[in-house]
Amino acid sequence: MREPGTGPKISRVMRFVTHYWLLSPRLFAALVALRIASTLVDVSVPLAAGWLVDAVASGAPGDPGPAIRALVIFIALGALFQISRQCVTFLLNRLSARAITTIGRDAFAKVQRFSADWHANSFAGATVRKITRGMTSFDTFTDTLAFGLVPAFIVVTGVTAVFSWRWPLLGLITGLSIFAFLAVVVLLAVYWIRPANVEAREWDSKMSGVLADSITGNPVVKSFAAEEREDGLFRNVAKGWEWRAIRSWDRSAVSGLVQAVLIVILQIGMLGTGIWLWSQGQASPGDIASLIATQFLITGYLRDIAQHVRALQRTINDMDDVLDFRDADLQVADRPGAAGLVVRQGAIAFDHVTFRYKGAHDALYRDFSLQIPAGQRVGLVGQSGAGKSTFVKLVQRLYDLDAGRILIDGQEIAQVTQTSLREAVGLVPQDPVLFHRSIAENIAYGKPGASMDEIVAAAKLAHVDEFVRGLPKGYDTLVGERGVKLSGGERQRVAIARVILAGSPILILDEATSSLDSVSETYIREAMDRLAQGRTTIVIAHRLSTVQRLDRILVFENGRIVEDGTHGQLIGRDGGVYRRLVETQSGAFLVDAAE
Ligand code: ADP
Repeated sequence: MREPGTGPKISRVMRFVTHYWLLSPRLFAALVALRIASTLVDVSVPLAAGWLVDAVASGAPGDPGPAIRALVIFIALGALFQISRQCVTFLLNRLSARAITTIGRDAFAKVQRFSADWHANSFAGATVRKITRGMTSFDTFTDTLAFGLVPAFIVVTGVTAVFSWRWPLLGLITGLSIFAFLAVVVLLAVYWIRPANVEAREWDSKMSGVLADSITGNPVVKSFAAEEREDGLFRNVAKGWEWRAIRSWDRSAVSGLVQAVLIVILQIGMLGTGIWLWSQGQASPGDIASLIATQFLITGYLRDIAQHVRALQRTINDMDDVLDFRDADLQVADRPGAAGLVVRQGAIAFDHVTFRYKGAHDALYRDFSLQIPAGQRVGLVGQSGAGKSTFVKLVQRLYDLDAGRILIDGQEIAQVTQTSLREAVGLVPQDPVLFHRSIAENIAYGKPGASMDEIVAAAKLAHVDEFVRGLPKGYDTLVGERGVKLSGGERQRVAIARVILAGSPILILDEATSSLDSVSETYIREAMDRLAQGRTTIVIAHRLSTVQRLDRILVFENGRIVEDGTHGQLIGRDGGVYRRLVETQSGAFLVDAAE
């Protein structure tokens, strides 16, 4: 459960929201001024009501002049309040919309630049929710202040000040009762209602979690005929939510009752004192009328205070995640003044590299050195967990090293901009992610602004053209959800076309582990061969049939290279690791090798 207190967070949130309010300083200043003015007008309406009553009480029926003047002032003030309040709304709409889009933009820009590791360890859905919740919370926070707490504060202090000036006793009683009211209501909201609310919300999320998990896993549920088990699971969570929801709603209701009682006490205090002042000849009938109207005004503002306090607390907590994004350092950052990487040939060198995953006990790579000459096609093989994927992640600088350097054409990759490095390294991942955009757009991702001719040319080289021609909308077909669902092999071909178009001088191909249909496999091999020509290429090989055509094979074991050579050299080693891998993995391949 979260802490009910929000103390230390408030100043951080205030700095954050102030920054975004001040994006439009003139608009903000106008808003504050207008809000104060409009609230002061609201406070003066009861006074005008008092003048009106006095004008009627002391005037003669034949001379309605003073009463009409007081009436005009009364109506004009009421109208002025409504107009100025609407103007506050218009200004706030503009201020909030601008701030919210900027908050979203800033958070999105930051999160996109977080490391691959961060993204691997965060749920995309949760990150999206945190950003959108941060945006809406800013809006609620600003509205709560502008329409709730700030005017309430102005009204309460304004009224207490006016009373204290004319009738010190009334001022004292009003001030004290409002203070007592606020103390009780705020304490209840923060320490009694909120913890129950937070717990009920957590169980609400648990319920959605169980629903989402069971519905997504429906094929498994079906295959084990486990519908009733899942019903039971949901029933239990729903029960857990039920009593917490009742408790949280009940506490709000009790707090409402306490507020009502306190408001009655406030009314008795104010009006009782007013009548006593009148009996002492210190207050006119008009004063009593304005006292009654003022009391309605105050209780109107106070009634929603508890709700505002809770809203403020909730938004402060909800903005916390976005603030964490904002304050987080980039895990992998460009050095100040980093230059662009210039790739002439594409030679890669690992120079005494030591690397340990955060949280891992031991270093995966220790004092690891390796040279890959320009244009060489290298296959990485080894058991799962041997360190092949990490090797290519380090080449892309998805992680920083603990010691040593990685060089491309003699330039240390940690010293150049990440943009220039990633542009130079084309990646065809194992299970490529395609955007929910058209196939043409997905291919053009490798080269923004590519012409349709270039896209089709790349698609032809990657054997994408074959299956795209068969689709109803061709290259305009949307991928995913409402579009076509591509097979693993087809997606990998699109990813190859993307890299062909990008024209990166260094290539990384992570072969698909799942078996591809033989047509796809042949196509992919052909496409890769074309792509690899003249480029330094690193293939994470899961199929030993691929690596035999490469220039060099590196056999990994626990972050070390245990064998290094061509297929011919390694297969000839009696008792060698590569030979053993080949023997265990593929009988068919052995026949090939023996030929
Ligand atoms: P391979 O590609 O050869 O299967 P990896 O490079 O993926 O091997 O993994 C090498 C080792 O590093 C494994 O023991 C794996 O568990 C560990 N590892 C991989 N990624 C991470 C990570 N993000 N955090 C911690 N350990 C990791």
